[in-house]
Amino acid sequence: MPPRGPSSPAGTPRDVVKRGPAYPRTVDALIAQFASLPGIGRRSAERLAFHVLKSDGPTAEALANAILDVKRHVRHCEVCWNLSDSSLCDVCADERRDRRTVLVVEQPRDLVALEQTSMFRGIYHVLMGRLSPLDGIGAGDLTVAGLVERIDNPGKNAGGEPVAEVILGLNPTIEGDGTAMYLSDILKERQVKVTRLARGLPTGSQLEYANKAVLTDAIQSRQTF
Ligand SMILES: [Zn+2]
Repeated sequence: MPPRGPSSPAGTPRDVVKRGPAYPRTVDALIAQFASLPGIGRRSAERLAFHVLKSDGPTAEALANAILDVKRHVRHCEVCWNLSDSSLCDVCADERRDRRTVLVVEQPRDLVALEQTSMFRGIYHVLMGRLSPLDGIGAGDLTVAGLVERIDNPGKNAGGEPVAEVILGLNPTIEGDGTAMYLSDILKERQVKVTRLARGLPTGSQLEYANKAVLTDAIQSRQTF
């Protein structure tokens, strides 16, 4: 039995002390909502809830509205499945992009990371996941059919242009590799060039600390100097 704290009401038998919620019900509900978010533990959820409590009305309202707006207005691009406020995402709608080159990624987050480099001038296709037989995720759960349709029917691609190259930009994991293999199998029967993103040593890393898989990739993906 832990010793009773000084806050226990004097004279109350230990087993009769009621252990109700420490916070008002509404605060508890907010904490529970924050705690249900990925990567947020109970302590962080409490900190966030108290931040909201301390905020003025308009600030708290802006947060609530941002959540509602996302649910009301954001949808998937009709061509590439990127997140978008309208039927075409900003990338697909941009006529200056090379719509003949399609980079396949797993998630909208990957697309955003690639866009931040400003190095890619083509367009994308977001699979919305990767094949994972152990979790029961098959091709039907991803947007594979949409990708194939874009290639088979240029009318379904941005600007109605035919796709000439598909770059597989899946994560270098077992599942990502499996998905890339699956896609390349489907695509090899079509008149489209299939490539994948290069792998190897990250800039600033040292050979002696790189693991075997990274070194193998670096050797296999070597480039002319
Ligand atoms: Zn799009």
